[in-house]
Amino acid sequence: MNAADLRTDVLVIGGGLAGGWAAIAAARAGASVILAEKGYFGTSGVTAAAGPGHWWVPPDPPEARREAVAQRNARALGLGDPRWMERIIDLTWRTLPTLAPYYAFPIDEHGRTQYRGLRGPEYLRALREWATHLGVRILDHHPALELIADRDGVVVGANGVRRQAGGGWTILAGAVVLATGGCAFKSRLLGCHTNTGEGLLMAVEAGAELSGMELSAYYTVAPARSTMTRSMSYMFARYFDVDDRPLDIQPGPDVTRALAAAMLAGPVFCRLDRTPEDIQAVMRQVQPNFMLPFDRWNIDPYRERFEVTLRGEGTVRGVGGLRIIDDACGVGVPGLFAAGDVASREPVAGATSGGGAQNSAWALSSGQWAGAAAARFSRRPTARRVSGGAPIGGAGIRPRRGGRPVDLVGVEAAVRAEMLPYDKSLFRSGATLARSLSALDQVWSEIADHADPDDWDRLRTREAAGLVATARWCGVAAQARNESRGLHQRTDAPGTDPRLARRLRVRGIDRVLVLPERTVGALEDVG
Ligand SMILES: Cc1cc2nc3c(=O)[nH]c(=O)nc-3n(C[C@H](O)[C@H](O)[C@H](O)COP(=O)(O)OP(=O)(O)OC[C@H]3O[C@@H](n4cnc5c(N)ncnc54)[C@H](O)[C@@H]3O)c2cc1C
Repeated sequence: MNAADLRTDVLVIGGGLAGGWAAIAAARAGASVILAEKGYFGTSGVTAAAGPGHWWVPPDPPEARREAVAQRNARALGLGDPRWMERIIDLTWRTLPTLAPYYAFPIDEHGRTQYRGLRGPEYLRALREWATHLGVRILDHHPALELIADRDGVVVGANGVRRQAGGGWTILAGAVVLATGGCAFKSRLLGCHTNTGEGLLMAVEAGAELSGMELSAYYTVAPARSTMTRSMSYMFARYFDVDDRPLDIQPGPDVTRALAAAMLAGPVFCRLDRTPEDIQAVMRQVQPNFMLPFDRWNIDPYRERFEVTLRGEGTVRGVGGLRIIDDACGVGVPGLFAAGDVASREPVAGATSGGGAQNSAWALSSGQWAGAAAARFSRRPTARRVSGGAPIGGAGIRPRRGGRPVDLVGVEAAVRAEMLPYDKSLFRSGATLARSLSALDQVWSEIADHADPDDWDRLRTREAAGLVATARWCGVAAQARNESRGLHQRTDAPGTDPRLARRLRVRGIDRVLVLPERTVGALEDVG
């Protein structure tokens, strides 16, 4: 018997932006809701340390939204869906003002309330407070490890561990919303330490597919040896080599590849001395954490140079994730819904990053659609009779062959070594991808065949399995997209192939298959 055996209408797994909105929507729809978070709902996930701006376009004049969608769709490079873009613009516009009882939105000099950009920590505190008022039961430090399904394959709950109280938990639910975020391969990106891909693994074990996994090569500049990926100030950056010679790297859309190329040749340093005085003056209020590493090192970033690095974001401000198959954010498995970065954002972002606007609007919207749909699903008559099911987790929990100690440090290092170096990710080719996949296949066999953790290391082992599984899905999809498009740039196929203006569906765990969607936008298309 587990230490915590509970039952609820809707179980939300993950307490970031998407999970918060999902829990609120499910509770508002009349469901009893439990939210299980690996860390603490309020400080975990990538929103908590960021300042998420939303896609915020007024309904008047009507051309404004049409133009916003047309511009974004052009940047989606053939993989976006204007209908989904319109949906999230509209829901974001209607939703953010409803947060006002819990969040102090600023008012500008004309007396207008500013809704678009929120401060991450206060945003999550507001969601937590609202969810609590609605009666959502919040279980912090309760990571989920695997889903539970009934005999018909309907997802009816999840199992996990209690990090502080010890032991495990089982929660039976009428429906489950996965909101476990993206996977940044333990790159030390700000806020991503708990985003390790096991949510994706759980869903694929239940039968879900992925999409857009090749669109995972997104990087953000940060001071070397820090996690501080708040990047606004780098709009004014000048870059230098180790001998202080200026590098011809201009801020703008291509800065990442130029920086990465320079970093492959040697250390790169930065000066922020072009930052306007008025911005310098407000930086501590606008992005307080941005200054922290500099304060610790006693460096004035506006006058002195400092070394920079690029932190990989994987699927966080990359694009790929679970393939959404309907307007309610279902993933093709009864009883299972997905929201936020755990889902593919291709419909709203296409082949380029949705960071800065679309991703937050997507997390807010998909969270609400998934939460409301899960509440509806949990009300179907058979859901009331859910009496149990079988846990369906594999790799990292139940070894396929004989259990033996697995070197988890080595597994994580192998994932980082294949997914983060710029020459394997930003400048990838068929040959580099094949070598990476061969290395990843080996660690996958090791963990899937042999990892048989004790209670105390079940979370770490399952996280390692999630990291390797996600890395393999990204690699196989990148191999299949034999062209360059958006975030996916192949040095051996630099052109864009019009025949590949379609999303790539990825399915399977041990044997991974890639299937192109027939037409973009036909989410229900099956082959
Ligand atoms: C520095 C930075 C700045 C950004 N700025 C913007 C912006 O301005 N505009 C914009 O549109 N987007 C922005 N983004 C992206 C945006 O923040 C994300 O799209 C959004 O936060 C996604 O929310 P989420 O809830 O899906 O994921 P997260 O906020 O990452 O939350 C996922 C949660 O799931 C939990 N979890 C993981 N695994 C488990 C498990 N097994 N069991 C239980 N819980 C689990 C994690 O602990 C975490 O709390 C930014 C991202 C970064 C990194």
